[in-house]
Amino acid sequence: MTLYVYKFGGTSVGSVERIKAVAEKVKKAHDAGDQIVVVVSAMSGETNRLLALAKDMQPQPTDRELDVLLSTGEQVTIALLAMALHHVGVDARSYTGSQVRILTDNAHTKARIREIDERHLRADLAAGRVVVVAGFQGVDEDGNITTLGRGGSDTTGVALAAALKADECHIYTDVDGVYTTDPRVVAKARRLERITFEEMLEMASLGSKVLQIRSVEFAGKYNVKLRVLSSFIEGNGTLISYEESDMEKALISGIAFNRDEAKLTLTGVPDLPGVASRILGPIADENIEVDMIVQNISAHGNTDFTFTVNRNDFARAKAVLARLKADFGGTTEIIGDSSIVKVSIVGVGMRSHAGIASTMFKVLADEGINIQMISTSEIKISVVIDEKYLELAVRALHSAFGLDQE
Ligand code: ADP
Ligand code: ASP
Ligand code: MG
Repeated sequence: MTLYVYKFGGTSVGSVERIKAVAEKVKKAHDAGDQIVVVVSAMSGETNRLLALAKDMQPQPTDRELDVLLSTGEQVTIALLAMALHHVGVDARSYTGSQVRILTDNAHTKARIREIDERHLRADLAAGRVVVVAGFQGVDEDGNITTLGRGGSDTTGVALAAALKADECHIYTDVDGVYTTDPRVVAKARRLERITFEEMLEMASLGSKVLQIRSVEFAGKYNVKLRVLSSFIEGNGTLISYEESDMEKALISGIAFNRDEAKLTLTGVPDLPGVASRILGPIADENIEVDMIVQNISAHGNTDFTFTVNRNDFARAKAVLARLKADFGGTTEIIGDSSIVKVSIVGVGMRSHAGIASTMFKVLADEGINIQMISTSEIKISVVIDEKYLELAVRALHSAFGLDQE
């Protein structure tokens, strides 16, 4: 008997008809003798609607109450899907995160899963039932409802697959797999048959929201067989797996981009030991995550210090710098820019090839795109550019690295 975890995203359960279609798909697998655990997201748009309601009550609601509110979206879909399954003659039971007991830490709105009690689920499966679990939510030690961060239902799916030692975890979504880049931005993007965990992790971290980062980490750590597929079209989707020697070695597997970045510069700070920590210490104290960092060479004992943060944190980070400015003395200026984006090329093939970075920079130069910041790792190169060039840059790189579909 094969045990599958099927996760359906917001679009896939976005209407009554679509929930019924999911029930049919699950019924088919269940009738064929497979054991099925289904994880569902809230209906598309619902989490955003709830967030907007919260903001109408209070400009900055507490994270604890946000979690109580946001978790209701998924609670609606599990009940509706269980009913739809009953209607087509499939015995099914729904569970919220806390009913399963998906135990998390208490970091509201971005909680991490610690432990899953899979006893209820196993008993239901043994009794021939389909189990329907609410994605994106858990419960902390004190019984508070927590959520796992936007896109967190992917992580629920993979974590359940790991806990139950499922044969495969299928992430059903509105695209038929992982593409070389977001197919909504580049029409010539190509579906990948396979991608390594490492590459998928980079793609997700660098802005490809097709899978939540944590879900890829989990899948890699517990060796979950993970596949991204379409809810609407039959096909093999994309398998995410460890690198194998016979894998086609493209130089670049994909291009990711992130529109959620903003850049801050302190000019003319004294070039002395400890200056980076004097700037970034107070930023960290405000719980603001820093992404890229560049410090220029010093002229006349002064240097420029630039870093990027999430756009949501831009105003707060700027306020921290404004407080620091006085400490640094007269020459220091703050320059902020929230109209930037980060574009990254990713591929394990990069390890064994020189010249990838220079090709990337030449492609951007030929399009007249100025590079503001650069960072690299073994399998990725990221650049920060003006947001108005995002699409041009991604398309040009996509062609130049031979990723376009025929
Ligand atoms: P779900 O609601 O099913 O979780 P998401 O919206 O979270 O779906 O993720 C699917 C979307 O991810 C696609 O519609 C697509 O626009 C976007 N996406 C971004 N990068 C990629 C990529 N490299 N491959 C496929 N889809 C991508
Ligand atoms: N409903 C949540 C969100 O919109 C979780 C998810 O869909 O994965 O972020
Ligand atoms: Mg998603």
